Amino acid sequence: MAIPTTRTNEEGIISIDNELCNGCGLCVSVCKDFSLFIENGKAVVSSTPVFGCISCGHCMAICPKGAIKITGRTLSPDDLFELPKTKSVAAYDHLLSLMQRRRSIREFRDQPVEDEIIEKILAAARTAPMGLPPTDVNVLILNGKEKNAEFVKDFTEMLKNMKWFASKPVLALMRPFMSRESAELYKSFISPLFDFFILLSDKSFQIK
Ligand code: SF4
Ligand code: SF4
Repeated sequence: MAIPTTRTNEEGIISIDNELCNGCGLCVSVCKDFSLFIENGKAVVSSTPVFGCISCGHCMAICPKGAIKITGRTLSPDDLFELPKTKSVAAYDHLLSLMQRRRSIREFRDQPVEDEIIEKILAAARTAPMGLPPTDVNVLILNGKEKNAEFVKDFTEMLKNMKWFASKPVLALMRPFMSRESAELYKSFISPLFDFFILLSDKSFQIK
């Protein structure tokens, strides 16, 4: 089985069906929280986990008997889905070609994106690996030119309000706490980036 990623704050709830568990230990080997261990040939929940169950769902996904269920943090056993068949999985060459052909091109066609394509992108994004949880990720879909324009306007306002953060006096104050590389990065890239984005979006509103 496979599992999408889960995000939010509460602790996950672990339940193990003793009748189904065969004590193979696979769940223990994937749990990085040490929430599980084997006792008398069965998986049991530890009373001294490191953080408490983070609902990564890996134990539930790997259990060959369906004996372990995790709920909480937006995860439930209903989220499990079948692993893709081995023959449909990309081999190294396919994966490498996909990555090499990828480009970040920030020019867009003047045409709407079909709902079906948006759904496909979201379905793929749900399975993206997360960093250290809780990683509360939200996806904002700006579907339509008006929403895009509103977003640009709001974003520009936010940049204008935050510009002080990369201003010369603030950078001078922060300089003793920054490495030479960080200071150079702020001076040569981040500060100009604020000006560039603000100028760009102001211009785009003038054009309209
Ligand atoms: S993976 Fe499943 S069957 Fe194996 S020990 Fe864990 S709960 Fe039991
Ligand atoms: S969901 Fe993750 S953290 Fe929780 S018991 Fe299973 S493997 Fe461990």
